Amino acid sequence: MGHKASEKIQELHNFGEFGGVNPSISDSSTYTFISAKTMFDTFEGNTEGCYLYSRHSSPSNLYLGEALAALEGTETANVTASGMGAITAVILQLCNADDHIVSSRTIYGGTYAFLKNFMKKFGVGTSFVDITKLDVVEKAITPKTKMIYCESVSNPLLEIADIKGLSKLAKKYNIPLVVDNTFSPLSIAPGKLGADIIIHSLTKFINGTSDCVAGVVCGTKDFCLSLKDVNKGAGMLLGSTLDSLRASSILKNMRTLHIRMKKHSENALYLAKQFEKDGLRSVYPGLASHPGNGLMNKQMVKEYGYGGILTIDVGSLENANALMELMQKKNLGYLAVSLGFYKTLFSAPGTSTSSEIPEEEQEEMGLSDGLIRFSIGLDDDIHRTYTMMRSCMNELGILSHDKVTV
Ligand code: PLP
Repeated sequence: MGHKASEKIQELHNFGEFGGVNPSISDSSTYTFISAKTMFDTFEGNTEGCYLYSRHSSPSNLYLGEALAALEGTETANVTASGMGAITAVILQLCNADDHIVSSRTIYGGTYAFLKNFMKKFGVGTSFVDITKLDVVEKAITPKTKMIYCESVSNPLLEIADIKGLSKLAKKYNIPLVVDNTFSPLSIAPGKLGADIIIHSLTKFINGTSDCVAGVVCGTKDFCLSLKDVNKGAGMLLGSTLDSLRASSILKNMRTLHIRMKKHSENALYLAKQFEKDGLRSVYPGLASHPGNGLMNKQMVKEYGYGGILTIDVGSLENANALMELMQKKNLGYLAVSLGFYKTLFSAPGTSTSSEIPEEEQEEMGLSDGLIRFSIGLDDDIHRTYTMMRSCMNELGILSHDKVTV
């Protein structure tokens, strides 16, 4: 076996039933048994290699899970029908009524809304904290706290979580550290840094073709089995099951993840540096001006770079909207949410993916009106892209200093 996660993914080989180079797709929701006794044992979860019903498990989902466990270096992984399907199952599995969660305050808007609004139904409160301050995180932990939750690189502010430091805290209080690693597959390995459960929205970089929605929970065999428990498993009972056809297409895309991540990162670093030189307020973990740059350098896997996401602040929502519309017209990317596509995607998080966060709270966490989040694509000539983006900014007067908050 290779040492690197990318090699481990490449080395997995499950051949198709006629010797195909890709595993066969399991095209069935249910499975037959010759003996009723084996069926009973399988229902109880006792029979290796036997399948009962595809909400519980299917060969295609298991193959994809194996590749994702190899990616994150965990014992195993359960795939789900969306990133939110993974996040909600983990949270509901770990919490009972009236428990408490400590979470980063800068997280994906859907996760924020789930923790803040939905979990109220069960009396579960969340303390949203500045995750970059370990002392603040520690102070928020109470005897009822059931997990520390964060994103390794946060959406959309790109704050970097100190996973080693957080994991020490989590261990001290005997609670799991749950990390959403959607923004930084391969470049950050939360499991190696001490995270207990790692979640991804596969919808983004891991699948990379913006053609489906999917998620994963990577963790220990015990935890992943508990999610599948027929009596008490949030994965099994909430029913967020990935379709086998999709699992197999995501697995095929995963085999090029290492190449794509390098290119996304290379292009994003180039643009972030240029934008910063132009006097735009740019946020990118690869810039020395980013408060988490030192930490990122310490915890990243260097060859995959600082990731494909960057933000710039163009001073106002009007500027942001005009720029995004013009860039789309010039075919520099699409005005669209989500990330990890071959084409650059841009959106204004305050009015889209983080709109669940109330305006005052957005302001407090530094989510300004003029912020544009870019998911940088796989452009072959990024200098040309930059030149064209710059000319869009010039055309709109965005690069003149009175309009930009530097
Ligand atoms: N986590 C992060 C960091 C995200 O950006 C998103 C979606 O934007 C999700 C989770 C949710 O994933 P999905 O849309 O696949 O449910």
